[in-house]
Amino acid sequence: MFSNKSLTIYKIRLPLKIPFTTSFGTQHYRNAIILHLMYNGIDAYSECVTDEGPYYSYEDNETALHIIKTYLINYIKDVPEPSKFLERSEKIKGHNMAKAAIEMLLWDYYSKVKKIPLYKYIGESKGYALIGISIGIDDVKKMINFIHESIKSGYRRIKVKIDKGKEIKILSEIREYFPDIPLSADANGCYTIKDIEILKALDKYNLLYIEQPLQHDDIIHHAKLRKEISTPICLDEPITSYEKALKAFEIGAADIINIKPGRLGGVYNSLKVIELAKEFKKGVWIGGMLETGIGRAFNIALASLNSINMPGDTSPNERYFNKDIVLNLFKMNNGTIIPYDSPGIGVNVDFEFMKNVSTRIEKLDLWV
Ligand SMILES: [Mg+2]
Repeated sequence: MFSNKSLTIYKIRLPLKIPFTTSFGTQHYRNAIILHLMYNGIDAYSECVTDEGPYYSYEDNETALHIIKTYLINYIKDVPEPSKFLERSEKIKGHNMAKAAIEMLLWDYYSKVKKIPLYKYIGESKGYALIGISIGIDDVKKMINFIHESIKSGYRRIKVKIDKGKEIKILSEIREYFPDIPLSADANGCYTIKDIEILKALDKYNLLYIEQPLQHDDIIHHAKLRKEISTPICLDEPITSYEKALKAFEIGAADIINIKPGRLGGVYNSLKVIELAKEFKKGVWIGGMLETGIGRAFNIALASLNSINMPGDTSPNERYFNKDIVLNLFKMNNGTIIPYDSPGIGVNVDFEFMKNVSTRIEKLDLWV
């Protein structure tokens, strides 16, 4: 017999307003997996932050779907609390983005059961998030125009993507035009320790930090690099667990951590790393993976926590999409965004539009 529980998986292809280029490639679409749980009259949602290719990490949409449909689905037939789900899924190595998609679905579900907005359910919140912008690699003149517009609209921090061989041109021209703006650069792991001279040369651009200069899985060489440069280091890609964050802080590899709940396996692990950063008196902010309004709502809730002490990459929806799959859109005011005050993540999904941009829809019944 079928219960009234179901999980619907939408694989969507949403065009980006403008292409987004990093050191690992150019994205024209956000190819997302959206999960919709229906249970006991509650609709809960989440977004898997994988995309089509394994470029940010080894996971992609198809590996995430495989892990969700073959393994993780078996752990949620009783719709457990997120902590219970984490315990059950511990034996599966890695695949944090797939796990996070399910874990975050459960956070949305339980905050809706308790009729509390997610941002109040997960901790002490200041009630707003400080917003920075992440700008892709482009013709430097275009990047400068974009920065100009971003400052005018109130962004609290400008981050530019850089790539090996393009970094000096990008940063020197930007700094010439904007000597004092709060600026950071994200290399997405395009250097190795052998490039130390290039990285030393970036000290003069007075960056707030350089994000992930060395390879995606490296922590140790970042500690070595940090001794040679004055620019603080922010780690992103290799911080996939609380233990990795602890090691990075202990050996002096990171001054700052960019928290992405997808990369860390969900909200619970993100909260643990946020508290760890507080204990170590380090910087911590919430990053982004070009999420639709669903993933974005989780990020804004986390970014509003008291312990988040730096502006994140959590722009309003319109920075990335002409039309989003949610109807209520975040608005930025003076470089801040207020999380939604309705229960859970608080988004109203535009189902008609989401179906239009779906390349696959699968409904799974979750009977026990
Ligand atoms: Mg990054």
